[in-house]
Amino acid sequence: MANTIPRISLNDGNTIPQLGFGVFQIEPRDTAAAVGRALEIGYRHIDTAQMYGNEAEVGQAIRGSGLDRGEVFVTSKLSNAFHRPDDARKAFESTLSTLKMDYIDLFLIHWPLPTLYDGDFVSTWQTLEEFQRDGRARSIGVSNFQVAHLERLITEARVVPAVNQVEVHPYFGNEEVRAYGRKHNVITEAWSPIAQGNVLSDPTVADIAELVGRTPAQVVLRWHIQRGDVIFPKSTTPERIEENFRIFDFELDDAAMERITSLDRGAAGRQGGDPDTFDYLPA
Ligand code: NDP
Repeated sequence: MANTIPRISLNDGNTIPQLGFGVFQIEPRDTAAAVGRALEIGYRHIDTAQMYGNEAEVGQAIRGSGLDRGEVFVTSKLSNAFHRPDDARKAFESTLSTLKMDYIDLFLIHWPLPTLYDGDFVSTWQTLEEFQRDGRARSIGVSNFQVAHLERLITEARVVPAVNQVEVHPYFGNEEVRAYGRKHNVITEAWSPIAQGNVLSDPTVADIAELVGRTPAQVVLRWHIQRGDVIFPKSTTPERIEENFRIFDFELDDAAMERITSLDRGAAGRQGGDPDTFDYLPA
């Protein structure tokens, strides 16, 4: 079985590689090397954000790879500081100029921030709709949106988000949000797919890894793939970047899938913030 990355269809007619490479918490000075390595291995999808501070180095690595711009799917996200429409417009221009690109494949609202900006993320979303209309964002989506937040966009705005990027891993299945996405054709992207490494020593995961002759990370990443979510594990370790890519030449059976799904701890399993109260604003 070849290790070919499937592409998932989005509700706007575009497609996205189901596996990408995430660059959260990679220092700017280490980013070009890590992204360059990922592109050499075969990753064709990079997930960055304004708040990660490494968009310039992502752009540099893609230009240095020798690949055509159209071969790499690039996502970035609006900083929490810039939800007001005029700020969002300037921030989006800054993302394109920092990446040195004339379009981005996918641009997201990073957090809904329902306790800030008078709870108005709808006008922020309508500003992203402009970026898609003028062609500078091929697809637009959201991140960390709960069902109630998605419902507001679907009733008050025109465009249904192409994706919702939320925390999902074996300790936090986030099933209600995933189910809403399936119903409304919003693809779920699972962030922290290996819970920042915290699920890898789980005895159930270790047992399945031994049974199938793969590493714990490969087993967990494969579980996400078979559930249909998009993932982009992060690593600055060259061997792990490669290990995380080799997940399309084996399968988990229903029993293994079910055992991993049953590790869900509900809200207690979250590694990151609760989107209903998360209100981080960068300085
Ligand atoms: P991940 O679940 O991808 O885990 C990354 C951690 O696991 C790192 O410490 C890495 O170490 C380690 N690791 C990676 N591969 C392996 C392996 N094969 N074996 C053992 N350890 C491994 O966490 P992230 O939080 O980075 O999530 C992935 C991406 O999701 C982010 O980079 C970002 O793009 C996105 N994200 C989005 C958020 C949002 O709010 N929208 C929030 C958080 C993440 P090392 O680097 O040392 O190898």
